[in-house]
Amino acid sequence: MFIDSHCHLNFSAFDEDLDAVVHRAVEAGVDRIIVASVDEESSRKAVELAERTPQIYAAVGIHPQDAQKYAEESIRIFQDWARHPKVVAIGEIGLDYYRDYNPKELQVRVFKRFVRLAKETGLPIIVHNRGADSDVMAVLSDPRFKSVTGVFHCFSSDLSYARNVLQRGYLISFTGIVTFKNSESAAILRELPEEKLMLETDAPLLAPEPHRGKRNEPAFIKFVAEKFAEVKQISLDEIAKITTQNALRLFPKLRNAFD
Ligand SMILES: [Zn+2]
Repeated sequence: MFIDSHCHLNFSAFDEDLDAVVHRAVEAGVDRIIVASVDEESSRKAVELAERTPQIYAAVGIHPQDAQKYAEESIRIFQDWARHPKVVAIGEIGLDYYRDYNPKELQVRVFKRFVRLAKETGLPIIVHNRGADSDVMAVLSDPRFKSVTGVFHCFSSDLSYARNVLQRGYLISFTGIVTFKNSESAAILRELPEEKLMLETDAPLLAPEPHRGKRNEPAFIKFVAEKFAEVKQISLDEIAKITTQNALRLFPKLRNAFD
């Protein structure tokens, strides 16, 4: 059994055939799917999907590229969602200096606000970090946020940063990028302990080989898992078991809601 710890079934790419996508995921052994959000609208949709689909759980938050949409009045609705039994995390939140859509100060302010929400609600965070290694770590190193935990999703930094992330108690997840030729992710994956890793698709983006360039979906998690097994030289079953345990440990509500 697999858990897709991060995808966006709340994006319009799945409007036409969501039920079929979930069905294929189940057939491929994916029994839990975390739908991550990028703004208020996608958060609402993630919660709705979680309410009507047993396999789906939600993460709510505002992506750094959508930081301009944040208004302090709207934090209330996120607070309400955070109490929902199937909302398992705050995310995705973080900093993205690669595309530079929003001023850094604004991104940092919104990121901090949502880390605070995570602290207040006891939920883990799903971190998006692109080209902002030191600023992300600076926010998370704030002593006020010591109790906050989470995952660095779609990890794209270097090995020494990965070690720093693990040392802070965070997990790391990789997408289909690990299956790409010339990807540096596989070399980093090789060095990291299995009990700190999770699988994700980030669908509809980043489809793994052999589907690279097409729309991604949770059923394709098995290609990511196969790469993990190859790199770590352990069986696919073992990878499924370990990454599932890691996800259940990080996201306690994923466990409770299912039992
Ligand atoms: Zn994502």
